[in-house]
Amino acid sequence: MPALFPRPKRPDHGSAAAPRRARLMPPAQAEAFIRALATANPAPETELLYHDTFSLLVAVVLSAQATDAAVNRCTPALFAAAPTPAAMAALGAEGIGPYIRTIGLWQSKAKNVAALSRDLVEKHGGAVPSTREALEALPGVGRKTANVVLNAAFGQNTMAVDTHIFRLGNRCGLAPGRTPLEVEERLVKRIPADLLRDAHHWLILHGRYVCKARAPECWRCVARAFCNYRDKVLAPPV
Ligand code: SF4
Repeated sequence: MPALFPRPKRPDHGSAAAPRRARLMPPAQAEAFIRALATANPAPETELLYHDTFSLLVAVVLSAQATDAAVNRCTPALFAAAPTPAAMAALGAEGIGPYIRTIGLWQSKAKNVAALSRDLVEKHGGAVPSTREALEALPGVGRKTANVVLNAAFGQNTMAVDTHIFRLGNRCGLAPGRTPLEVEERLVKRIPADLLRDAHHWLILHGRYVCKARAPECWRCVARAFCNYRDKVLAPPV
């Protein structure tokens, strides 16, 4: 017998691979959205632990498909053992592996970190290069990693689109797109230049802690007034 009061269907908030898409915000609304996040967190920073450009690069390579917290548990000991590209190259994949075993895909990451460290020593005089082309030529470094390094270490107005920013850009209408590159290009075009550098951090933190994958916490979202998402969650679940 069917229930007299069937439980209402939970709204489908989409997934990382196929986020729900909202109507594109007009430019003034997009700016107001970002400024609301900026006001709430005027000095945003990456949550990855690092102390120089090389350790930032390694931390970002290790963070692919892993949480920043998991990476941060491993990297202090790794960086103490191998603080420079030369020392990391000398440690080699076999030496790096034991430090990062608790991170997903650790075996391929150990090989990449050893190989990119070798490349830095042999092709870049032991320094991390500051161009996208040279960064993306390093083993294990893709567009997203290059964007993070260019932004955080070299002060460039890049936008690294991870799973959180991809979902958020689509869900709220800030930068709907079918691929991370489409979302990235739209964000770079739409966010005012003076906000672009920090926008990466605002969006990533907002996606990680408020506009979450399974259910956005719209009731405590500082940018709610400017968001185009239709199924806003306006009260905490009871
Ligand atoms: S109102 Fe909700 S859906 Fe829109 S950005 Fe905020 S948390 Fe995300």
